[in-house]
Amino acid sequence: MTPVARRASRRVLVAGRPVGGGAPILVQSMTNTDTEDAAATAAQVAALARAGSEAVRITVNTLEAARRVPAIRERLLAQGVDVPLIGDFHFNGHKLLAQVPECAAALDKYRINPGNVGHGTKRDDQFATMVETAIRHGKPVRIGVNWGSLDPELLARLMDANARLSRPLEADAVMREALVVSALESAAKAEEIGLAGDRIILSAKVSAVQDLITVYRDLAARCDYPLHLGLTEAGMGSKGIVASAAAMGVLLQEGIGDTIRVSLTPEPGGDRTREVVVAQELLQTMGLRAFAPQVSACPGCGRTTSTFFQELADRIQSYLRAQMPLWRARYPGVEDLHVAVMGCVVNGPGESKLADIGISLPGSGEKPVAPVFVDGEKTVTLKGERIAEEFQALVEAYVRERYAPGAAPRAAARRKTIAIQPAEP
Ligand code: SF4
Repeated sequence: MTPVARRASRRVLVAGRPVGGGAPILVQSMTNTDTEDAAATAAQVAALARAGSEAVRITVNTLEAARRVPAIRERLLAQGVDVPLIGDFHFNGHKLLAQVPECAAALDKYRINPGNVGHGTKRDDQFATMVETAIRHGKPVRIGVNWGSLDPELLARLMDANARLSRPLEADAVMREALVVSALESAAKAEEIGLAGDRIILSAKVSAVQDLITVYRDLAARCDYPLHLGLTEAGMGSKGIVASAAAMGVLLQEGIGDTIRVSLTPEPGGDRTREVVVAQELLQTMGLRAFAPQVSACPGCGRTTSTFFQELADRIQSYLRAQMPLWRARYPGVEDLHVAVMGCVVNGPGESKLADIGISLPGSGEKPVAPVFVDGEKTVTLKGERIAEEFQALVEAYVRERYAPGAAPRAAARRKTIAIQPAEP
């Protein structure tokens, strides 16, 4: 496969972690707890971080919420969680940051929405207050423009200019241009105020896939700030996942994007960490990062009349993901492991041979035996009631033998992820 050439961008440090400039693309997420409830917010931030989120944004919308930010930070540190915390400010961010300097100090980055910082002359003053706070505390900012809260004065200005053209653009095109201009003009203003260019990250989120692709291509061509990608209001379940993956997949393949968030609406009572898993899987399936071993499983068909192989695939995927907090430290490189769980003899042996370790389960009418392939060679045939437990034990043994420090080198995995070619910093 063709290596992905990343867009050259400046490098911004967020709590010492590099963003942009060829650094690995980071996964972000956002809490949906009331920030005034420090215990609940810290618990959710910790859960998101443990799931793999590399920065977590929290809403800071009231004085009490701002006052609770240091307590959230302390609770996280007490649990050994040092994930960067980003404050999300709208409307009153200038007041909150000024009135609660402990909040300004405890956060690692501020998200400023130029469409929600006030109107008229107040707008410039309030934006300046936030940027000056960031300068004083040595924090980077993300200037995060959003389709749903686009600066109305800027949009009116561009609409008027467009109307004067001999061949005016469609209103949608003017709105897309307004998103990009809002981000770029705000970044220029922040630099005029004194914020260094390598403290600025931009985003311009919209909710339609084609619009997002157009806007980010344009933004990427017109600046070298690192870009945070995300399809805003992506939606629930498969709709949100498919739309986010479709939009961000195109951009990532073009080397655009330095951090990503999958903005899934959770099902009632659903797990907030799902957005982190989806973001990781998007980056991993594209060969841009590796987070956890991958399981290839066939979709099943008329040759698999039982649900056994689906259950085994699910069991192995869940098991591998659950081991990662421990394995990441104990078995360097294990995130590249590739396991296959296949439903019958048609593609089972072939796909299993391509994996590091794979099992080909018996389809309907086949002998009830399950050959296991390790590094392309058949090693053992499982049968009976304990196939799942025995295969899991074989996977665990494989991980130990191949990835433990000092383990003898083994045949390289046959299914390679694509090579990453970082842009020159
Ligand atoms: S491997 Fe077998 S069970 Fe799986 S989809 Fe192919 S034919 Fe069907």
